[in-house]
Amino acid sequence: MKKSYDVAVFHGDGIGPEIMAPTLEILRQLSRGSPSYELVFTDAPAGAGHYVKTGDSFPAGSLETARNADAILLSAMGLPDVRYPDGTEISPQIDLRKQLGLFAGVRPVKVSSRQMTPLALPPGKEIDFVLIRESTEGLFFTQGAGEVTEHEARETLLITREVSEKLFRFAFELAQNRKRTGRGRGRVTCVDKANVFRAFAFFRSIFDAEAANHPDLQADHAYVDATALWMVQKPWEFDVLVTENMFGDILSDLGAGLMGGLGLAPSADIGLDHAVFQPCHGSAPDIAGQGIANPFAMILSAAMMLEWLGLTHDHPELSSDGARLREAVEKATENGQNLTRDLGGTAGTRDAASSVLEALRV
Ligand code: NAD
Repeated sequence: MKKSYDVAVFHGDGIGPEIMAPTLEILRQLSRGSPSYELVFTDAPAGAGHYVKTGDSFPAGSLETARNADAILLSAMGLPDVRYPDGTEISPQIDLRKQLGLFAGVRPVKVSSRQMTPLALPPGKEIDFVLIRESTEGLFFTQGAGEVTEHEARETLLITREVSEKLFRFAFELAQNRKRTGRGRGRVTCVDKANVFRAFAFFRSIFDAEAANHPDLQADHAYVDATALWMVQKPWEFDVLVTENMFGDILSDLGAGLMGGLGLAPSADIGLDHAVFQPCHGSAPDIAGQGIANPFAMILSAAMMLEWLGLTHDHPELSSDGARLREAVEKATENGQNLTRDLGGTAGTRDAASSVLEALRV
């Protein structure tokens, strides 16, 4: 009998539904072809479009659907012209992080030697590292509640032992798993600014305590400014990088840049009991409705979801289908025949997604 997994689906705004539709088609095909698992999708309405229609940006029922699901697949949300009365944007993806305690923002950066990248990779070098961005505190702690007077503005950076311990445990487990599956050398780098701020010396000391529990893995530290330099000069040396929320926010866009843009950058927000998988990019209102959005980051996020479900449910076929799907996107990107405009091609969303399906069949 097939084991069934419930997936909550947030279709998003702008290009969101356009890239979600072919992604679900691919997942349905994988699910139909599998002897051991079945994916069951439940729509969770939310976002800017939903707010315009109903006055509610994130219905309680949708949060409940997400909470009850085995995994959450989310397409880009928000529209610059749709705002709450206080002027801020609709962003259920950020509410989900807080509501479900999704402390680990996982941002893989992968570039094979046959893929286009703004860097000239030395022969034999490939980029394959994961940036983990703490996603519930750090400099985002006072998000929306910073103090602003006529003369000064103030935000608070918060680092807690509780969240940092969970974060570093997650980072070392990920490095362990990457080493076991031949994708990483088993190295974890704590990215901080411990030379200047006491809060980061605290962050680093918690990292060191967790590192002591993993003598089979290599643990080291790097300052965030030097990390930005090395991500450009020698990104192939990294394996797992773990950092504070704001540093991770900035470095993950640098990582997306190494991959040739946001259209190839997937992500996951992972907690102890829940996980959301979504592309790094936004709802791209400037190209919405034209059928030209790049679906690869969304499809790569779905591949991460399968790998994560496989790992957490000890279901190897799910993990291997996730890896197959990731490799199919890589093949489609390397092949270069059906690339969307952001990657230098002329293909539409449908054709780009079809080339992934083709690569899956090979
Ligand atoms: P954006 O990522 O939507 O767009 C930036 C640029 O990249 C645009 O030129 C866009 O056309 C292009 N682009 C993005 N994704 C693409 C894709 N898949 N294929 C081809 N081109 C793509 O960023 P923005 O313009 O700053 O934000 C637009 C809206 O999205 C805003 O309302 C913002 O709040 C929201 N947003 C949502 C998320 C999320 O859901 N996680 C993340 C970032 C921004």
